[in-house]
Amino acid sequence: MFENSLSYAKSLDSKDVLSKYRQEFNFPKVNGKQVIYFTGNSLGLQPKRAVKFVNEVMTDWAELAVEGHFYADKPWWDYHERFCEPLSKVVGAKASEVTVMNTLTVNLHLLMATFYKPTTGKFKIICEEKAFPSDQYLIQSQVQWHGLNYKDVVVEVKRRKGEHNFRTEDILAKIDEVGDELALVLIGGINYYTGQVLDIKTITNYAQQYNAKVGWDLAHAAGNIELKLHDWNVDFAAWCSYKYMNGGPGNASGCFIHEKYHQDETLVRLGGWWGHNKERRFLMEKKYDPIESANGWQISNPPILSLAPYLASVEMFSEVGMSTLIAKRDQITAYLDFVIQDIAKEVGGNFEVITPIVPEERASQLSVLLHGEGRELFTYLMEKGVIVDWREPNVIRLAPVPFYTSYEDIYHFGQILKQGLKQSNV
Ligand SMILES: *Cc1c(COP(=O)(O)O)cnc(C)c1O
Repeated sequence: MFENSLSYAKSLDSKDVLSKYRQEFNFPKVNGKQVIYFTGNSLGLQPKRAVKFVNEVMTDWAELAVEGHFYADKPWWDYHERFCEPLSKVVGAKASEVTVMNTLTVNLHLLMATFYKPTTGKFKIICEEKAFPSDQYLIQSQVQWHGLNYKDVVVEVKRRKGEHNFRTEDILAKIDEVGDELALVLIGGINYYTGQVLDIKTITNYAQQYNAKVGWDLAHAAGNIELKLHDWNVDFAAWCSYKYMNGGPGNASGCFIHEKYHQDETLVRLGGWWGHNKERRFLMEKKYDPIESANGWQISNPPILSLAPYLASVEMFSEVGMSTLIAKRDQITAYLDFVIQDIAKEVGGNFEVITPIVPEERASQLSVLLHGEGRELFTYLMEKGVIVDWREPNVIRLAPVPFYTSYEDIYHFGQILKQGLKQSNV
């Protein structure tokens, strides 16, 4: 149904309701030419309006200094609350269930402090094998911090031999195997390496039958797939702002905490003054009185300069809506896959797309496993202004982010890939 031609790609762009958003982002240049950017799954492009949001804070700081906390246009003392409503739409939550603070791994630590309470009969954690390194270190060190032993506590879900992706049935079987000893499931909602989307709802509900808590690392999922964290009864989740959400390097992370926990006084939140009852925050009272919402997990005076670009980006998500992004995401990812296969047929190429083909398990990323001399091809693409990313041992990840990728980008990428394959004999 697709065609690998410039005119066809242009015709898709002319029908693309998101095409005007491309102008809203700053693209880097290579050899004076705007790049084809496929690494929005690693660091999203800069929204032009982020500059305005940051400058606003800088100006308020210059002109108001301490008074900015209350008298800035967007006062700093509750700046983080501006995220709750718009971000709740992105992740399918109630506004009270969402907050923005710290960074992703820090937030997962804090959420584990609340939700991972090992006892002698209930202490096991299920995670994925070969998880993103930060998640591995997170879990290892949490286990250590509780004075436990990794191999007694952590059960890794594995892929079957010869397969690239997890099977839901295998994850469920692992949950059954661990049974009542299961305290926590903590997995990436989308696998960073393959781009596989996991069945968050099924896995969450299944593990909860054993009274386990279920948390999700949504680094690659937020702003990429449809999420219904509230309805799926997810216990907690966190994501970074700088991948699909274009919030800027290392900027503040989003958190979800289901409303069923907001008033639970038996849960420990590692506290700080920003989690304390807002009206009484400055009274410096002795007794900690956490806010009855996800904001009750806040700790510090929020990093306004880290929040400002994320707020600019969240505003764009509100304008566009996840369903529009997802509709384009599916079409442009399918087009990219088509173009890759078409080029492979034409010039040959010893590689395969290892991202699942079924639509429920695929989002805005294709991972291409190269069986030949991959590194050369990677270098060639980068030199020609195609920004992709390389994961050891031999995977190239391509994310045609719907917010700013054009179909014409995909066509031109195909032509560059063809030249690269001819030269490097992949
Ligand atoms: C990107 C990513 C992280 C990054 O964590 P930071 O704390 O923001 O550095 C963590 N986990 C996963 C799965 C990721 O994809």
